[in-house]
Amino acid sequence: MDTPAMQTPHHMLKTLFGYDAFRHHQAEIIDALLAGRDVLTLMPTGGGKSICYQIPALLRPGTGIVISPLIALMQDQADALRQLGVRAALLNSSLDAKAQRQVEQQLLAGELDILYMAPERLLNDWTLDLLARCDIALFAIDEAHCVSQWGHDFRKEYQQLSMLHERYPKVPRIALTATADVRTRGEIVSQLALQQAQVFINSFDRPNIHYAIAESGGGRDALWKFLCEQHPADAGIVYCLSRNGVDGTSQWLNDKGREALPYHAGLPQDVRQRHQQRFLREEGLIMVATIAFGMGIDKPDVRFVAHMNLPKNIEAYYQETGRAGRDGLPADAWMSYGLKDVINLRLFTDNSDAEEQFKRVMHQKTDAMLGLCELTSCRRQALLAYFDEQLAEPCGNCDNCINPPETWDATIAAQKALSCVYRTGEGFGAQYVIHVLLGKEDERISRNGHDMLSTFNIGGEHSGAEWRGIFRQLIAHGYLAADAEGFGVLRLTPKAWGLLKKSSNPQPVMLRRLRKPPREKVGKKRSGSAARQSLSDQDQALFEALRALRSRLAKEQNVPPYVIFPDRTLNELAVSRPATQAQMLDVSGVGEVKRERYGEDFLNEIRQFESGA
Ligand code: ADP
Ligand code: ZN
Repeated sequence: MDTPAMQTPHHMLKTLFGYDAFRHHQAEIIDALLAGRDVLTLMPTGGGKSICYQIPALLRPGTGIVISPLIALMQDQADALRQLGVRAALLNSSLDAKAQRQVEQQLLAGELDILYMAPERLLNDWTLDLLARCDIALFAIDEAHCVSQWGHDFRKEYQQLSMLHERYPKVPRIALTATADVRTRGEIVSQLALQQAQVFINSFDRPNIHYAIAESGGGRDALWKFLCEQHPADAGIVYCLSRNGVDGTSQWLNDKGREALPYHAGLPQDVRQRHQQRFLREEGLIMVATIAFGMGIDKPDVRFVAHMNLPKNIEAYYQETGRAGRDGLPADAWMSYGLKDVINLRLFTDNSDAEEQFKRVMHQKTDAMLGLCELTSCRRQALLAYFDEQLAEPCGNCDNCINPPETWDATIAAQKALSCVYRTGEGFGAQYVIHVLLGKEDERISRNGHDMLSTFNIGGEHSGAEWRGIFRQLIAHGYLAADAEGFGVLRLTPKAWGLLKKSSNPQPVMLRRLRKPPREKVGKKRSGSAARQSLSDQDQALFEALRALRSRLAKEQNVPPYVIFPDRTLNELAVSRPATQAQMLDVSGVGEVKRERYGEDFLNEIRQFESGA
């Protein structure tokens, strides 16, 4: 691409990317790189990290080298840049010898603006030799947290990247990540040998994501209701714990008429790849997956992430839900969990044969996860606090903010429940104990003589469902432990004894009241597709027409639809309805190259709609 020396970053933002203003610290980061300095930047997913290195790579002489572990993504990223007229390419194991030679020639001829490669590719002698013979504008090291050997994404090649500093002391480097605690940040700087790096840290918050955690036993039905009400035609991810859960749920969704694809480690590699590709390229698909799916899923218009089971900890929950709404438009993080999930998570921690110290950490993490579920105040405040960030006010965009749960003094119910666990000899699961409390006629209960207990039939003031909610919360709050030996057998914890002792004057036990389904409607209404809820019916119809056009254009070129235009741009086109090429340029996300390529197609579609509608 020709970049006249007079170009400023801001001018490039407008003419190339079609955006009016820089976000977060983008402008400062770009300035630092243009001045030849090293940078470490932490930005939440969807914050706009790419522009931070793309613009300086274009403005500095030479090629910008982007190092990323996510090979599957490189093609889409390069495609997206080519759509803007940027000369982008990639080097990875998917290229054959001929394609590789072509990239080599382009690079040496100075015909590449940006080149993506995996770290192992960068480190081999052939590449190092090649890079030694060309001009390099900068190095961008994406997913820089992979350098940390304590993290779950550790890549040993990342630790060798410090040699970039030795070989190219004058070339600025930028390390980017969306997840790094204080320790990891230090590791990135030292392992990569960043020199007097300027550090830019943004909030972890993802304000466009609506968090909701529903206490429901009715897993799939609750999911179906959520899909019908909030996302009748949107793309999203449904996470299940097991492969069976994935297969069953995706089949079930297809039977109900929603197109869904399974993804888990038990499927052949080519099936997984095909499903991932379809999810990226087609509109409105649901991916039903285990946690094997996700790392590097860069689809910006994932409108919801649904969890059918509890994630193991808050880190996992935040990372998985973070895959929703990368484009900044409204998106949902939805979860449904019940008594069984809570027991399973506790059992999982207890059962692992990890060392004591590790187990203690796991217990704390489990507690934090369960605490988040049972929380009665703002979820976002709690999530951010977990990552050491304070949010001054409740967010107004989570289930607890929108529809505050009622709490009630459950001290007496808790005492009844705990005492019934004790009197039945701490040898049974929740369901059995609840039957005793409710005085159910049950052959097993009478055989055990438990119909003679003082706690038999003393719980009639609550329904079975309410008791399950009470037990779930007592386990979550640590009054009851699920025994690792016998599956789901409950026993009392020391905390429980504090509540049972007559002499003590216990703190009241405050629990969430079970939400009755109709009450969900109370409070602010959130219905229709979350991304487009602000559109009128007319605009919505035009949006759909534009989306269909985008799909056609994408298919012709075999690229994902969002590299043509993101949803946000379609939204704006549907509302502002430009009539001329010049007006088209006022729409966010439309730069000069895209106006030239697609302006006429989209203007035509709008004209047709207006004359026909
Ligand atoms: P990240 O890599 O941080 O997850 P991306 O770089 O993919 O995020 O950017 C997310 C989306 O935001 C992209 O669609 C991008 O074009 C858009 N974007 C980036 N910077 C801006 C900006 N200054 N104004 C408007 N949109 C932006
Ligand atoms: Zn909130």
